[in-house]
Amino acid sequence: MATLQELLADTLGGYRLTEPDAELLLSARGRDVWRITTAADEIRELRAGDDVTYVRNQNLHVTNICKNLCGFCGFGRNATDEGAYCHDREGIQAQARLAHGRNVTEICLLSGVHPGFTLDTFIDMMHWIHEAAPGVHIHAFSPDEVAHVATKARVPTTEVIARLKEEGLGTIQGTAAEILVDSVRQVICPRKVSTADWVRIIREAHTAGLRSTATIMYGSCETARDQAEHLGILRTIQDGTHGFTELVTLPYVHTNTPLYRQGLARPGPTGREDLLMIAVSRLFLDNFRNIQVAWGKVGTKMTQLSLLAGANDLAGTMFTDDVSGDAGASGSDYLDPEDMKRIASDLGRNLRQRTTLYEMV
Ligand code: SF4
Repeated sequence: MATLQELLADTLGGYRLTEPDAELLLSARGRDVWRITTAADEIRELRAGDDVTYVRNQNLHVTNICKNLCGFCGFGRNATDEGAYCHDREGIQAQARLAHGRNVTEICLLSGVHPGFTLDTFIDMMHWIHEAAPGVHIHAFSPDEVAHVATKARVPTTEVIARLKEEGLGTIQGTAAEILVDSVRQVICPRKVSTADWVRIIREAHTAGLRSTATIMYGSCETARDQAEHLGILRTIQDGTHGFTELVTLPYVHTNTPLYRQGLARPGPTGREDLLMIAVSRLFLDNFRNIQVAWGKVGTKMTQLSLLAGANDLAGTMFTDDVSGDAGASGSDYLDPEDMKRIASDLGRNLRQRTTLYEMV
């Protein structure tokens, strides 16, 4: 059996890691952590260069009423719960106008899966946003939302995807992936689409010419083997479609979530796990150019260290993120590009503004 150093040297030489290799690397301790992050940083330099990118975007919250009520979430509510809301046209357009005034290139819908929403609701929302923020790229609708409105309309998901694209969707969200292992999904998000359906809908979107992010929500109750299996699924999809723009790594924020209160999850990932998730993703996902660190969930100092561990992208300016905030994260709303610049230049790297599809602005 190869030693860790041999495995890393082979990977730098072009060897494609297996899922058991990834599991081994994700379980590393002590100085091995630095060996892995150093190898990942080398691959980052080769694959993505020295630029650190970000997108000028704004999250737009439509509703926190959600049919799924996932155990790892502190944001979703029943319609009758205290604090439940659902914005109408005026509320959505007010947020879109604000985003337009802030010169964002992307509006990202961050919303619960409202049981009453239909395909027409999604189409109306996109029209309202484009009316208030002309030219903006709309990044929205996870495979779970696509499945939900397809079931309501009794049409195939391919038809929903085609309509959304036709009516102005820029890219689809690779959220609702969480951990793509059904035994884990049964615990953390039992009402969401199955692994097979998530994979099928993402492939359908890519095939229809809609690119998407890929995500992993780690640090709740899954094992390193589950994480490796998840990364394996993403890599296989990417081999076939090349439709993923980046991997977004999302650490579980535990504080205000039912899963943690019920003793079903650990209190989020540790710093070691955060760095290894970035580094092993970089090493394992040899067909992804971009690995993103979520500054709103790990904080700016860990964000900077992640840029030394394989990450090349800082996500967006966001301006608001009630999903992280309601789960217990602090400082998750806005990161000024000047602060991003400081983080990057302190490492001797350049900050570059990008579009959603990674064209430089
Ligand atoms: S994670 Fe998303 S789908 Fe799950 S409860 Fe929260 S808002 Fe709803």
